[in-house]
Amino acid sequence: MKTEIIKVNGEDYQVRIIIEDRIDSKVSVNQKIISMHLPDCLSREELFRELLKMKLWARQKILENPGKFQRRPLKEYKDGHEIVVGSEKYTLRIQHFDKSSSSARMDGNTLFLSISSNLTEMQKSKHISTLISRCIARKKLPEVKKRVEELNRLYFQKDIKKVFLKHNQSNWGSCSEKGNINFSTRLLFAPPDVFDYLCIHELAHLSEQNHSKQFWALVEKAMPDYKEKEKWIKENGASCNF
Ligand SMILES: [Zn+2]
Repeated sequence: MKTEIIKVNGEDYQVRIIIEDRIDSKVSVNQKIISMHLPDCLSREELFRELLKMKLWARQKILENPGKFQRRPLKEYKDGHEIVVGSEKYTLRIQHFDKSSSSARMDGNTLFLSISSNLTEMQKSKHISTLISRCIARKKLPEVKKRVEELNRLYFQKDIKKVFLKHNQSNWGSCSEKGNINFSTRLLFAPPDVFDYLCIHELAHLSEQNHSKQFWALVEKAMPDYKEKEKWIKENGASCNF
């Protein structure tokens, strides 16, 4: 495995090149890493050409989906700040204490955060966003479950085991073969129609565990204008984050 860095739009992405026993090449991108898997049977020239093609593809992918692949600076949370999550507003009360752990409680729409003072600014920001996300998730989970069940009744009629709402900044949701659906708390920032789309997307995965034609046909049947919601996510997804 070799490592190099490429810059796209002023941000560094680590390139991981993995040459292995496989038939075809594969490239994937996340917010930090571009992974390139190549078959070990290629000649030096073929390898070079393939890598070049993959780099161009990855660069294009990042440029086309700024909301998905570009990292943003950490959010700054201050005592007294108001944060807007979907249609709701929350007030933050933040206090620092000389202790090792951080905690939070919610009273109405006020969040009381008790944060360890023995942390770096970056750690503090991460603690705060995780705590806020968890508190709001606890409050909103029944509502999310209810809507997932409604949409399931209307369009899918599948067995759903459990619905989870987790603090996760890199994706929107996933579903397991057992029938559990996991949503990222990012979904709480989405407008109602996009929220429905994200639910429908995961519900469709209960039947099709991939992004095949059949999968998109199921999504389209439940939501004919789903492409507009995808567009909204591409353009606004980056700001949907605690
Ligand atoms: Zn999917």
